[in-house]
Amino acid sequence: MKACNLKIHSIETFGTHDGPGIRLVIFAQGCLFRCLYCHNPDTQALETDKTKTIKIKEILELLEKQRTYFGKTGGLTISGGEPTLQATGLIELFKECKKRAFNTCLDTCGAIYSREVQELYDLADLVMLDVKHIDDGWHQKLTGMSNANTLKNAAYREKTGKELWLRYVLVPGWTDQEEHLETWAKYFANYKTLKRVELIPYHKLGVFKYEALGRKYELDGVEPPTKTEIAKAAEIFIKYLGNKVVVV
Ligand code: SF4
Repeated sequence: MKACNLKIHSIETFGTHDGPGIRLVIFAQGCLFRCLYCHNPDTQALETDKTKTIKIKEILELLEKQRTYFGKTGGLTISGGEPTLQATGLIELFKECKKRAFNTCLDTCGAIYSREVQELYDLADLVMLDVKHIDDGWHQKLTGMSNANTLKNAAYREKTGKELWLRYVLVPGWTDQEEHLETWAKYFANYKTLKRVELIPYHKLGVFKYEALGRKYELDGVEPPTKTEIAKAAEIFIKYLGNKVVVV
Protein backbone atom coordinates (compact mmCIF):
# COMPACT_ATOMS: atom_id res chain seq x y z
CA MET A 1 0.00 0.00 0.00
CA LYS A 2 1.37 3.42 -0.94
CA ALA A 3 1.67 5.89 1.95
CA CYS A 4 -0.74 8.53 0.60
CA ASN A 5 -2.29 11.23 2.72
CA LEU A 6 -5.63 12.84 1.98
CA LYS A 7 -6.53 16.39 2.91
CA ILE A 8 -9.87 16.33 4.60
CA HIS A 9 -12.35 18.64 6.24
CA SER A 10 -14.17 16.13 8.45
CA ILE A 11 -15.47 12.60 8.90
CA GLU A 12 -18.97 11.32 9.59
CA THR A 13 -18.94 7.80 10.97
CA PHE A 14 -22.57 6.75 10.53
CA GLY A 15 -23.76 8.74 7.54
CA THR A 16 -27.13 7.87 6.02
CA HIS A 17 -27.53 10.66 3.45
CA ASP A 18 -24.58 10.13 1.13
CA GLY A 19 -25.19 6.87 -0.66
CA PRO A 20 -26.95 3.61 0.22
CA GLY A 21 -27.04 2.14 3.72
CA ILE A 22 -24.87 3.22 6.61
CA ARG A 23 -21.62 4.79 5.48
CA LEU A 24 -18.36 6.20 6.65
CA VAL A 25 -18.36 9.60 4.93
CA ILE A 26 -15.11 11.45 4.41
CA PHE A 27 -15.40 15.10 3.40
CA ALA A 28 -12.39 16.03 1.28
CA GLN A 29 -10.96 19.54 1.48
CA GLY A 30 -10.89 21.77 -1.60
CA CYS A 31 -13.27 22.48 -4.45
CA LEU A 32 -13.02 24.19 -7.85
CA PHE A 33 -16.65 25.30 -7.91
CA ARG A 34 -18.01 28.17 -5.86
CA CYS A 35 -21.69 27.28 -5.73
CA LEU A 36 -23.70 30.19 -4.43
CA TYR A 37 -25.75 27.86 -2.22
CA CYS A 38 -22.82 25.77 -0.96
CA HIS A 39 -23.62 24.79 2.61
CA ASN A 40 -20.03 23.77 3.30
CA PRO A 41 -18.10 26.88 2.18
CA ASP A 42 -15.38 25.95 4.64
CA THR A 43 -14.51 22.96 2.42
CA GLN A 44 -13.85 25.08 -0.68
CA ALA A 45 -10.32 26.37 -0.07
CA LEU A 46 -7.61 23.87 -0.89
CA GLU A 47 -5.83 24.52 2.36
CA THR A 48 -7.03 26.15 5.57
CA ASP A 49 -5.63 26.28 9.08
CA LYS A 50 -8.26 23.66 10.01
CA THR A 51 -7.43 21.20 7.21
CA LYS A 52 -6.51 17.77 8.55
CA THR A 53 -4.61 15.03 6.83
CA ILE A 54 -5.43 11.37 7.13
CA LYS A 55 -3.52 8.32 5.95
CA ILE A 56 -5.21 5.70 3.81
CA LYS A 57 -4.27 3.15 6.44
CA GLU A 58 -6.22 5.14 9.05
CA ILE A 59 -9.33 5.25 6.83
CA LEU A 60 -9.10 1.48 6.35
CA GLU A 61 -8.91 1.03 10.11
CA LEU A 62 -12.04 3.13 10.57
CA LEU A 63 -13.80 1.06 7.92
CA GLU A 64 -12.85 -2.19 9.64
CA LYS A 65 -14.30 -0.89 12.92
CA GLN A 66 -17.61 -0.19 11.19
CA ARG A 67 -17.71 -3.25 8.96
CA THR A 68 -20.52 -5.00 10.84
CA TYR A 69 -22.81 -1.96 10.48
CA PHE A 70 -22.43 -1.70 6.71
CA GLY A 71 -24.47 -4.81 5.90
CA LYS A 72 -24.96 -5.48 2.20
CA THR A 73 -25.37 -1.87 1.06
CA GLY A 74 -23.22 0.41 3.24
CA GLY A 75 -19.57 1.33 2.95
CA LEU A 76 -17.35 4.30 2.26
CA THR A 77 -18.39 7.59 0.66
CA ILE A 78 -15.88 10.22 -0.34
CA SER A 79 -17.58 13.58 -0.53
CA GLY A 80 -16.39 17.13 -0.17
CA GLY A 81 -15.45 19.71 -1.19
CA GLU A 82 -14.54 18.03 -4.43
CA PRO A 83 -12.79 14.70 -3.90
CA THR A 84 -11.41 14.34 -7.43
CA LEU A 85 -8.88 17.07 -6.67
CA GLN A 86 -7.13 14.26 -4.78
CA ALA A 87 -7.75 11.54 -7.32
CA THR A 88 -4.28 9.99 -6.96
CA GLY A 89 -4.73 9.24 -3.26
CA LEU A 90 -8.32 8.15 -3.75
CA ILE A 91 -7.34 5.65 -6.44
CA GLU A 92 -5.06 4.01 -3.89
CA LEU A 93 -7.78 4.11 -1.25
CA PHE A 94 -10.45 2.61 -3.52
CA LYS A 95 -8.05 -0.15 -4.63
CA GLU A 96 -7.47 -1.07 -0.99
CA CYS A 97 -11.22 -0.98 -0.35
CA LYS A 98 -11.79 -3.35 -3.24
CA LYS A 99 -9.29 -5.83 -1.81
CA ARG A 100 -11.19 -5.75 1.49
CA ALA A 101 -14.69 -5.84 -0.08
CA PHE A 102 -15.74 -2.39 1.14
CA ASN A 103 -18.33 -0.73 -1.08
CA THR A 104 -17.14 2.65 -2.38
CA CYS A 105 -19.09 5.70 -3.44
CA LEU A 106 -17.72 8.89 -4.98
CA ASP A 107 -19.81 12.02 -4.42
CA THR A 108 -18.62 14.57 -6.98
CA CYS A 109 -19.59 17.70 -8.90
CA GLY A 110 -17.65 16.44 -11.91
CA ALA A 111 -15.47 19.54 -12.23
CA ILE A 112 -12.36 17.61 -13.29
CA TYR A 113 -12.29 15.43 -16.40
CA SER A 114 -9.05 13.50 -16.73
CA ARG A 115 -7.64 10.02 -17.25
CA GLU A 116 -6.99 9.81 -13.53
CA VAL A 117 -10.57 10.70 -12.63
CA GLN A 118 -11.74 8.05 -15.08
CA GLU A 119 -9.62 5.50 -13.26
CA LEU A 120 -11.28 6.57 -10.03
CA TYR A 121 -14.72 6.21 -11.63
CA ASP A 122 -13.75 2.71 -12.80
CA LEU A 123 -12.95 1.75 -9.22
CA ALA A 124 -16.00 3.34 -7.56
CA ASP A 125 -18.99 1.05 -7.02
CA LEU A 126 -21.26 4.08 -7.19
CA VAL A 127 -20.77 7.59 -8.55
CA MET A 128 -23.12 10.27 -7.25
CA LEU A 129 -22.81 13.18 -9.62
CA ASP A 130 -24.22 16.67 -9.01
CA VAL A 131 -25.42 18.20 -12.26
CA LYS A 132 -26.19 21.62 -10.93
CA HIS A 133 -27.67 23.19 -14.05
CA ILE A 134 -28.10 21.94 -17.61
CA ASP A 135 -27.75 25.41 -19.12
CA ASP A 136 -24.08 26.32 -19.18
CA GLY A 137 -24.67 30.05 -18.71
CA TRP A 138 -26.73 29.44 -15.59
CA HIS A 139 -24.26 26.81 -14.43
CA GLN A 140 -21.45 29.34 -14.64
CA LYS A 141 -23.48 31.96 -12.78
CA LEU A 142 -24.32 29.44 -10.08
CA THR A 143 -20.97 27.67 -9.65
CA GLY A 144 -18.35 29.89 -11.31
CA MET A 145 -17.48 27.18 -13.84
CA SER A 146 -18.84 25.46 -16.94
CA ASN A 147 -20.85 22.23 -16.75
CA ALA A 148 -18.88 20.76 -19.69
CA ASN A 149 -16.66 18.50 -17.58
CA THR A 150 -19.58 17.36 -15.44
CA LEU A 151 -21.49 16.25 -18.52
CA LYS A 152 -18.41 14.54 -19.96
CA ASN A 153 -18.00 12.67 -16.68
CA ALA A 154 -21.65 11.61 -16.74
CA ALA A 155 -21.16 10.27 -20.29
CA TYR A 156 -18.02 8.44 -19.21
CA ARG A 157 -19.83 6.77 -16.32
CA GLU A 158 -22.62 5.71 -18.67
CA LYS A 159 -20.04 4.22 -21.03
CA THR A 160 -18.56 2.10 -18.24
CA GLY A 161 -21.99 0.59 -17.48
CA LYS A 162 -21.51 1.15 -13.74
CA GLU A 163 -24.08 2.58 -11.36
CA LEU A 164 -24.74 6.30 -11.41
CA TRP A 165 -26.91 8.52 -9.22
CA LEU A 166 -27.57 12.14 -10.05
CA ARG A 167 -28.28 14.99 -7.67
CA TYR A 168 -29.97 18.29 -8.34
CA VAL A 169 -30.48 21.15 -5.91
CA LEU A 170 -33.71 23.04 -6.55
CA VAL A 171 -33.13 26.75 -5.94
CA PRO A 172 -36.03 29.14 -6.59
CA GLY A 173 -35.16 31.64 -9.30
CA TRP A 174 -31.91 29.82 -10.10
CA THR A 175 -32.50 26.18 -10.95
CA ASP A 176 -36.28 25.87 -11.14
CA GLN A 177 -36.94 27.20 -14.67
CA GLU A 178 -39.36 24.79 -16.29
CA GLU A 179 -37.61 24.63 -19.66
CA HIS A 180 -34.26 23.85 -18.05
CA LEU A 181 -35.77 21.19 -15.79
CA GLU A 182 -37.26 19.59 -18.90
CA THR A 183 -33.92 19.71 -20.72
CA TRP A 184 -32.08 18.32 -17.70
CA ALA A 185 -34.44 15.38 -17.33
CA LYS A 186 -34.56 14.63 -21.07
CA TYR A 187 -30.77 14.72 -21.23
CA PHE A 188 -30.49 11.77 -18.85
CA ALA A 189 -33.71 9.94 -19.74
CA ASN A 190 -31.94 7.19 -21.72
CA TYR A 191 -29.05 6.65 -19.34
CA LYS A 192 -29.01 2.93 -18.55
CA THR A 193 -26.65 3.24 -15.59
CA LEU A 194 -28.81 5.83 -13.85
CA LYS A 195 -30.51 4.25 -10.85
CA ARG A 196 -31.56 7.22 -8.74
CA VAL A 197 -32.11 10.95 -9.13
CA GLU A 198 -32.12 13.00 -5.94
CA LEU A 199 -34.02 16.25 -6.09
CA ILE A 200 -32.79 18.29 -3.16
CA PRO A 201 -34.76 21.35 -2.08
CA TYR A 202 -32.46 24.28 -1.39
CA HIS A 203 -32.05 25.12 2.31
CA LYS A 204 -30.27 27.81 4.27
CA LEU A 205 -28.62 25.69 6.94
CA GLY A 206 -25.10 26.71 5.94
CA VAL A 207 -25.65 30.48 5.85
CA PHE A 208 -24.11 31.08 9.27
CA LYS A 209 -20.83 29.60 8.01
CA TYR A 210 -20.46 32.48 5.54
CA GLU A 211 -20.66 34.96 8.40
CA ALA A 212 -18.04 33.01 10.30
CA LEU A 213 -15.78 33.11 7.22
CA GLY A 214 -16.42 36.85 6.77
CA ARG A 215 -17.98 36.19 3.35
CA LYS A 216 -21.12 37.62 1.80
CA TYR A 217 -23.90 35.09 1.22
CA GLU A 218 -24.90 35.81 -2.36
CA LEU A 219 -28.30 34.09 -2.17
CA ASP A 220 -29.46 36.27 0.68
CA GLY A 221 -33.23 36.64 0.32
CA VAL A 222 -33.71 33.41 -1.63
CA GLU A 223 -36.13 31.21 0.28
CA PRO A 224 -36.36 27.40 0.12
CA PRO A 225 -38.85 26.14 -2.47
CA THR A 226 -42.45 25.66 -1.37
CA LYS A 227 -44.12 22.25 -1.42
CA THR A 228 -45.88 23.25 -4.63
CA GLU A 229 -42.63 24.31 -6.30
CA ILE A 230 -40.97 21.04 -5.27
CA ALA A 231 -43.92 19.01 -6.55
CA LYS A 232 -43.85 20.85 -9.89
CA ALA A 233 -40.14 20.19 -10.40
CA ALA A 234 -40.54 16.56 -9.31
CA GLU A 235 -43.37 16.10 -11.79
CA ILE A 236 -41.15 17.28 -14.67
CA PHE A 237 -38.33 14.98 -13.62
CA ILE A 238 -40.68 12.02 -13.15
CA LYS A 239 -42.13 12.55 -16.64
CA TYR A 240 -38.75 11.53 -18.13
CA LEU A 241 -37.04 9.62 -15.35
CA GLY A 242 -39.91 7.80 -13.67
CA ASN A 243 -39.60 6.28 -10.25
CA LYS A 244 -35.85 6.85 -10.06
CA VAL A 245 -36.71 10.35 -8.85
CA VAL A 246 -36.79 10.95 -5.11
CA VAL A 247 -37.16 14.19 -3.23
CA VAL A 248 -34.70 14.09 -0.32
S1 SF4 B 1 -19.40 21.61 -5.57
FE1 SF4 B 1 -20.16 21.19 -3.51
S2 SF4 B 1 -18.46 21.75 -2.14
FE2 SF4 B 1 -18.02 22.65 -4.14
S3 SF4 B 1 -18.81 24.71 -3.97
FE3 SF4 B 1 -20.41 23.44 -4.86
S4 SF4 B 1 -21.70 22.76 -3.17
FE4 SF4 B 1 -19.74 23.52 -2.32
